[in-house]
Amino acid sequence: MTVDTAPGAHASRESRYAINEIFESVIGEGPFTGHQALFIRFQGCNLNCDFCDTAHAQPKAKVGSHARSPEWRLRSLSYLINRVRESKADRVVFTGGEPMGQLAMGNIIPSLGQVNESEQLLRSIKSLGRVLHLETNGTTTDSVMDLFDVVTISPKKGHPVKLIGHVVEIRTLIETGEDTWHPVPGLGADFYTLSPVWDTEKNEPYYPALRRCLWLLENPPRGVTFSLSVQLHKLLNLP
Ligand code: SF4
Repeated sequence: MTVDTAPGAHASRESRYAINEIFESVIGEGPFTGHQALFIRFQGCNLNCDFCDTAHAQPKAKVGSHARSPEWRLRSLSYLINRVRESKADRVVFTGGEPMGQLAMGNIIPSLGQVNESEQLLRSIKSLGRVLHLETNGTTTDSVMDLFDVVTISPKKGHPVKLIGHVVEIRTLIETGEDTWHPVPGLGADFYTLSPVWDTEKNEPYYPALRRCLWLLENPPRGVTFSLSVQLHKLLNLP
């Protein structure tokens, strides 16, 4: 673990976030698939799903074919803002791990004993004219979520979503050929997407889950329209 700050930054007074990687790619999932974006991947997650393919969600997380380096660094608020400023991508995706674990105003990184300036971080990025996306499991909520333009909730079984209201996307992971879809109480969305789990050995969507998604598309619950989301970035071997 390393601490990086931008030149001239007052590191001791700034929020710092544990970040795994910052990279540009196309969005591979959900209704904005194909758009160029700058991805900021936050270290750590409050859950530990069996199918997790994010090597750095947890220290002991399983490493899938798409997993990247588990190394992470502390990045200062000004460093992150400068990275966004340098990027030509008009969208910035906060992903993880679980970004809200660090962005929620009450959740500082304890070992740093620092002020959490997430609101300043998000407002600064928005002032650069970027569209802010958040990908979250929905188990941690905070008022800073209102600053995101696109919130995607990806519920995880056995871990109730705490958010109530309306988001842009609810992305449901389909794990098996018998899996089903359940509404999230009190939460609606513009888009309801179904995402088959990834077969890491074959590097393709797990076929029984994909077939189940297609069946659900043909047989949706009343009032719900699904769309399929198949992790285009993995199919194309993009970051
Ligand atoms: S919520 Fe997402 S990042 Fe966290 S352990 Fe589950 S799959 Fe991994």
